[in-house]
Amino acid sequence: MTGHVRPYRSYVYAYPHKTAYRPLPEPGPALRDLWRDERKDALSLYLHIPFCEVRCGFCNLFTRIGAPDELTGRYLDALDRQATAVRDALGDTAPVRFANAAFGGGTPTFLEAAELERLCDIAEKRMGADLRAIPLSVEASPATATADRLAVLAERGTTRLSLGVQSFVDEEARAAVRPQRRADVDAALARIRDARIPVLNIDLIYGIDGQTPASWRTSLDAALAWQPEELYLYPLYVRPLTGLARRTAVTDRDWDEQRLSLYRQGRDHLLAHGYEQVSMRMFRRPGAPAQGPDDHACQTDGMIGLGCGARSYTSTLHYSFDYAVDMGHIRAIIDAYTGTEDFTRAVHGRYVDGDEARRRHLLQSLLQARGMPLADYRDRFGAEPYDDFPAELAAFAARGWLDDDAPDGLLRLSPEGLAHSDALGPELFSAEVRAAMAAYAVK
Ligand code: SF4
Repeated sequence: MTGHVRPYRSYVYAYPHKTAYRPLPEPGPALRDLWRDERKDALSLYLHIPFCEVRCGFCNLFTRIGAPDELTGRYLDALDRQATAVRDALGDTAPVRFANAAFGGGTPTFLEAAELERLCDIAEKRMGADLRAIPLSVEASPATATADRLAVLAERGTTRLSLGVQSFVDEEARAAVRPQRRADVDAALARIRDARIPVLNIDLIYGIDGQTPASWRTSLDAALAWQPEELYLYPLYVRPLTGLARRTAVTDRDWDEQRLSLYRQGRDHLLAHGYEQVSMRMFRRPGAPAQGPDDHACQTDGMIGLGCGARSYTSTLHYSFDYAVDMGHIRAIIDAYTGTEDFTRAVHGRYVDGDEARRRHLLQSLLQARGMPLADYRDRFGAEPYDDFPAELAAFAARGWLDDDAPDGLLRLSPEGLAHSDALGPELFSAEVRAAMAAYAVK
């Protein structure tokens, strides 16, 4: 039944996607007004570091290669100014508390040890986040996960370190990712384990040119040897303006089949090793503390994003700075950010009204392996998802994507539904968001 549906349309990690954001009417709403009536006692804090040593072939994240002329210092200066302005806008009339924090990128460990100290200071002293008391997740690459940087992160309270390995097979790394030697990757993993950060996550990618079931198994087993608390298995995507040349050897259909089959292999391998599936991409070792991004897909809490690629969410507005994939545009946006003095307003974003909030809730909970309690939806919206999304849910059921054996009151994907998360998610986008995404000129 599922043969005609392209399984890999897009990775829905946030809805609406940033390409649906637009410049807000000038001068843009004041943050102080936006946050005045919001609940602020369980906020998420995200600090974005848009630097990497190299640009991975598949990457469409907001990041640039290298940081010439002390750009990291100027970037941290701007982050400091932004944090000061945002914390001021949150006010002190209602309690302001951060429930979790994350440093993402880019590659946060591109920053040197002293710069990472400063980054933690910004989160703690400017924003008031108690980093040692809350989950703190940090992304790293093998080359930048140096002992001194890891020591700073561990000491400042990092509870989860996520390492982008992608493949333990050197030829595959060269083909899709970036040249890296397995020995260097293993050395980085040893340093991370030595730093005693409680949760190690390893990212792997499937669907690389030349990757076979046997070589995929090699990567899976090499990762499992480190007994990571979490593993993320990502399908490879080739996206506009990224470095990866579109493969010529296989058709789209064959590539879809290759990825689906490697997905099933990877999933079954991890399940056989006792891992629990949390979402299509995420697997957790039994007994490991819940720490990953898919664990706090909390539907209603606000998010404060700092840095030029970070998003922030109130209950009605999602906002960020301008977005780009192309290197020239990214550089210009970073330069504009480092020169910004006034961070008191939201300049770019999208209002998430009642209908969009329902879509977002359904999307984010349905894409979790544990499913969506109907009561949660009912309590929040006073409605039934089957009444709000009859056509979509009927189509999913007809394709065998819904789990008929789910307990009463739980809307849950079947294993094939979960395998098709990247097809199912986009089908829940509203017509308005689709139109905005389609009209977005890639840059
Ligand atoms: S995948 Fe990660 S490390 Fe690679 S370029 Fe993108 S942000 Fe940087």
